Amino acid sequence: MKYRSTRGSKENTLNSAAAIIQGLAPDGGLYVPLDFPKANFKLEDLPKLSYKQIAAMVISLFFNDYSKEQIQSAVLNAYSEQWDNRSIVPIEKHDHNFYMELFHGPTLAFKDIALQMLPQLMTRAVQIEKIDRNIIILTATSGDTGTASMRGFANQKRTSVIVFYPEGGVSPVQLRQMLSQHGDNLQAIAIKGNFDDAQTEVKKIFNDEKFKTLLNKNGYQFSSANSMNIGRLVPQISYYLYTYGQLVRRQEIKLGNEINFSVPTGNFGDILAGYYAKKLGLPIKKLICASNENNVLTDFFKNGEYDRRRKFHLTNAPAMDILVSNNLERLLFDLYDNDYKQISSLMNQLTQRGHYQISDEVHAKLQEIFAADFATERQVIKEINRIYNYDRYVIDPHTAVGSYVAHQYQEKTGDTTPMVIVSTASPYKFPETVYEAVTGRVCPQTGVAAIKKLHEELGGQLSIGVRTLFDRKPGLEKVIDPQNMEIVISSILDLK
Ligand SMILES: *Cc1c(COP(=O)(O)O)cnc(C)c1O
Repeated sequence: MKYRSTRGSKENTLNSAAAIIQGLAPDGGLYVPLDFPKANFKLEDLPKLSYKQIAAMVISLFFNDYSKEQIQSAVLNAYSEQWDNRSIVPIEKHDHNFYMELFHGPTLAFKDIALQMLPQLMTRAVQIEKIDRNIIILTATSGDTGTASMRGFANQKRTSVIVFYPEGGVSPVQLRQMLSQHGDNLQAIAIKGNFDDAQTEVKKIFNDEKFKTLLNKNGYQFSSANSMNIGRLVPQISYYLYTYGQLVRRQEIKLGNEINFSVPTGNFGDILAGYYAKKLGLPIKKLICASNENNVLTDFFKNGEYDRRRKFHLTNAPAMDILVSNNLERLLFDLYDNDYKQISSLMNQLTQRGHYQISDEVHAKLQEIFAADFATERQVIKEINRIYNYDRYVIDPHTAVGSYVAHQYQEKTGDTTPMVIVSTASPYKFPETVYEAVTGRVCPQTGVAAIKKLHEELGGQLSIGVRTLFDRKPGLEKVIDPQNMEIVISSILDLK
């Protein structure tokens, strides 16, 4: 299947392996399918299929320049013993809603679903495209992409990972995971700034032609593990299909019934995968975009104006502390019927003026498919507490944003459509907040010590992913100015 940029004409295409290696289009746009594919399955197939089977099916639909064998082996490697639950994505029912648990991978957050797969796709893409350079995965992270991409790419041949994260902007457990991940091909560096600063600078470096030439001369080329990479987005479609099938299988819904998903949203990757699932014919009624106090998207869905000119908040759901949600560009491209000139213009307005307004027609389409709202830090704590008191089920702060917004939506609209809350992280990844929510007392510790405290409260077995955190010794943190990112990359790679 051919891919094109959201900011370039449809004559300019490349195949999926090349799009995965490139990560970002040279014109600053994101790669999207030239023609959105038609489903290669029937709805009634879904209840019979395992997670791995659905993952292989989705990947072969979007990435058909990979061979069947390549996809099979990629799926087997991505979804095996490193997961602490054999079904990969268990689904829990609490207080009438379903919780789709995406955090059973090695770094305890949903990014593992895509980032256990992306390295598999990347190493095979290098073969398909006959690339003789080494791939440098350059990534900005609000926390979880960093941990999951380092883990996914650790010791993968001919690839290296350089991660930039905001100093003080990631949780203690995320920091420990990044600083203690083993692998000769991995680097994590803090920048003085927030996630948006890191992401903007990474995009700039990607599009710096001079730097690119220097890299190539030294036998390297860049790729990205952010959800801007289409190879990261497509594997996420699978869990929407799988969950639908499982709800039918358990007779919670009838085949063909509509369901809602509430998605804790940051860069808009997770919820966009839900939109793509809907485009493939999955009966989704509403996709609910749940934000924290960085509620640019809530306002955007309400008014049709995207306005990043506002205060940036560091919250207790840090993976969603984002003001520029990059994947929204792919949604708008679709709703503007692939009008790439319009998309380029909107994105330029965002860069230059800090805001843009979409047309009434597109705004109306948005409102038909999406609902949006946000939760404050206090509401996050209260929601964790509410669910815990209901039946002792424990959710993390990001999931709590989704859960709170879903609950509000149900109360306000009276919509009784079955609701799936996308559970994006293990409560043990953010133990300080969860401890406070469950006990009503501020946690006296942080990081792994807070995990111990929380475990004393909750009891039960700790998963292998949590237990390994205790064994690892973190290295020292390196902090730089964002303007120096290029220089630091040069020195890591010893560019001449
Ligand atoms: C990344 C992340 C999100 C936000 O997902 P997007 O795809 O960026 O919208 C939500 N929760 C957690 C725990 C995350 O790591």
